Amino acid sequence: MNIDTKSPAIILQDGRDKALNRRHPWLFSNAIKQVINTPNRGDTVEVYSSSGQWLARAAYSPSSQIRARIWTFQQDEAIDVAFFSRRLSRAWALRQSLFDQSTDGIRLIAAESDGLPGITIDKYADVLVLQLVSAGADAQRKNLLAALIQLFPSHSIYERSDVDVRKKEGLKPVTGWLAAEREHGEVLIKEHGMTLLVDVIQGHKTGFYLDQRASRAAVKRLASGARVLNCFSYTGTFAVAALQGGASEVINADMSELALSTASRNAELNQLDLSKLTNVKADVFKLLRQYHEQGELFDIIILDPPKFAESKSQLMGACRGYKDINRLAMQLVKPGGLLFTFSCSGLMEDSLFQKVVADAALDANRDCLFIEKLQQDSDHPVASFFPEGYYLKGLVCKIW
Ligand code: SAH
Repeated sequence: MNIDTKSPAIILQDGRDKALNRRHPWLFSNAIKQVINTPNRGDTVEVYSSSGQWLARAAYSPSSQIRARIWTFQQDEAIDVAFFSRRLSRAWALRQSLFDQSTDGIRLIAAESDGLPGITIDKYADVLVLQLVSAGADAQRKNLLAALIQLFPSHSIYERSDVDVRKKEGLKPVTGWLAAEREHGEVLIKEHGMTLLVDVIQGHKTGFYLDQRASRAAVKRLASGARVLNCFSYTGTFAVAALQGGASEVINADMSELALSTASRNAELNQLDLSKLTNVKADVFKLLRQYHEQGELFDIIILDPPKFAESKSQLMGACRGYKDINRLAMQLVKPGGLLFTFSCSGLMEDSLFQKVVADAALDANRDCLFIEKLQQDSDHPVASFFPEGYYLKGLVCKIW
């Protein structure tokens, strides 16, 4: 035993060090034998095997099933400003190698996969949005912020820690400016020849769906001459891509009025022909049925619904929802047209999603060919030790 008897620490159950030895950054409560020296919420703790071998340094989260999240597997690495600087610099170097000046809306930190559990940071031009979802991330706000300001001295920083998962960690919502406050939350970003509006204060999540960048490019490439239905459009970024790609007409459908008004502004910002764009405020499930009754047909349908499965127990219900909506959409695709269908539920694995779409094709009595696969773009990397980081998958389907 070489346990430091003064520092707060966790000692694992016998044989429960396997996941940590594979560098998985989560420690579940049932793997823990003993917690010593009473750490507070978010405190840094040493993690030892049952035989007293030092394994990792982690953040303690007393309310969550994920009782600790690993900061480092190196014993000589302290969790301080320099630690956050190293992690941020490595992540920023990757993004700089992936994108040139023509793309300035970028996910800078993808939490666990970038070695910073519970921390998401998006960079929209010179505005950074920070989202902290774990007790450890929350407790390290000051160190993280200091490191962030060092790397991006002139940037505004807005915190959007207002997601439900914080409750599981015993944390309340936190939002507000942390550096270089601005009067409002609107920022313009550039992406593949488009200019797009992000509202970091009122927008969903951290403001914008950067993860769909590669999918927008795919739509732009295939949209020439097409009549497009963009379901769950949010701020209509797929519509801008489709119109730039030469679509003859695009309908955005979403139930959020604010998202749709931003969709119009996005079209204007890109000097697109507004007569080709229609925004419909509707429940997509109902709208697809209504269009079917009216005999409407489209060359391209995009289906990018919100997450249907938050937990394993919801997965079967989610499959029914995905199947339903894909069947309804396929019925509206002209023979030879395309369906771009997505699932951002991490619990829905590739093979299961493919099966759900295949079942939908059977029910719709249509031939469906998978011609391309899409996924979260490269600034949302997946660490090999953290497969949970992979969540967004898409299929481009040729429908006959
Ligand atoms: N495709 C978008 C992101 C979609 S996010 C993009 O790439 O930017 C999901 C969107 O679905 C949200 O804008 C939400 O308002 C909308 N939404 C959720 N349920 C809906 C429903 N039943 N009918 C219509 N819109 C819905």
